[in-house]
Amino acid sequence: QRREIRAMKLCVIAGDGIGREVVPQALRVLQALLPALQVVEAEAGWDTFCQQGTALPAATLAAARDCGAVIFGAVSSPAHKVAGYRSPIVQLRRELGCHANLRPTLSLPGCGADGIDLLIVRENTEDLYIGEEQSDGDTATAIKRITRAASQRVAQSAYQLALAEGRQRLTIVHKANILPLTDGLFRDVARQVAAAYPQLQVDELLVDTAALKLAQAPQAFDVLLAPNLYGDILSDLAAAFGGGLGVAASLNLGEHAAIAEPVHGSAPDIAGQGIANPVASLLSLAMLLRHWWQQPALAARLEQAVRATLAAGTRTPDLGGSASTAAYCDAVIGRL
Ligand code: ATP
Ligand code: MG
Repeated sequence: QRREIRAMKLCVIAGDGIGREVVPQALRVLQALLPALQVVEAEAGWDTFCQQGTALPAATLAAARDCGAVIFGAVSSPAHKVAGYRSPIVQLRRELGCHANLRPTLSLPGCGADGIDLLIVRENTEDLYIGEEQSDGDTATAIKRITRAASQRVAQSAYQLALAEGRQRLTIVHKANILPLTDGLFRDVARQVAAAYPQLQVDELLVDTAALKLAQAPQAFDVLLAPNLYGDILSDLAAAFGGGLGVAASLNLGEHAAIAEPVHGSAPDIAGQGIANPVASLLSLAMLLRHWWQQPALAARLEQAVRATLAAGTRTPDLGGSASTAAYCDAVIGRL
């Protein structure tokens, strides 16, 4: 259902490094679009861990839960294992029950390949990522867990998202020929759920074939639905055709919350210079507008302004331009 604009609340977690540059700037753009937006700032990340002994303070988690909508910039992780440190974004996705990870790749003016507009929907809670590994030194085993419940949930989200974005086709990705029980369950459940969405053309591909086809002709794909591991790998492969990390957006979506999350990390090599690309954050916010706040018209306006600004040649250095983070956002605000 449609949420009232005046009830919109956003928990802003800038995090570390360039998260502190791109998030405040992208927020300025969002506020130009939505002057009534309520903003709650919260802390998380490596610096927070160093100061407070936890990377995700209880107050941050409470603010995120209360708002429902979150933007999460980036966190630096320690190069070596540090006792007590847990990745705050991984915790936040789990605590907020964000079961689906959405990773679009689309052609933007003057960056990456042309004619691509695909969306990867990745299951976000299970598969090999449950971290159940053991080893006796000579034999190491990892558990790959696939459940009917999680497969159903992510498949339903994928079909609904596909319809909400006016898409035509959805491809289920799996390796059920080798893993008939685990991937077979994922595939079968996704097929069963598909029966309720006759408007969509649903097909399936083995993950290796999907990788080959994606590398050959990314333009041929529309929506891909995949278990956690394949989704992780394919979304980075797809990102290679976009304009790079500076423009790669994502949304973690659950029933009670959604987290907009630029794909990039804290980029210590360029942090503090004011030149990080805010497009990934802006497009992640557009996904939040479309899929969480159910405001497709506002989302489209934001996306259009981002595109038009790039098309006019205003770009940050990663895209070959000379605009600062703030100058790019000023130009987007000018177009809004
Ligand atoms: P982390 O450990 O936090 O992931 P990292 O060193 O892996 O940090 P990333 O953020 O993953 O850094 O970035 C990898 C490369 O891409 C870096 O060279 C970085 O400068 C560049 N990059 C990432 N995001 C952006 C951005 N928004 N704008 C411009 N360049 C970026
Ligand atoms: Mg990185």
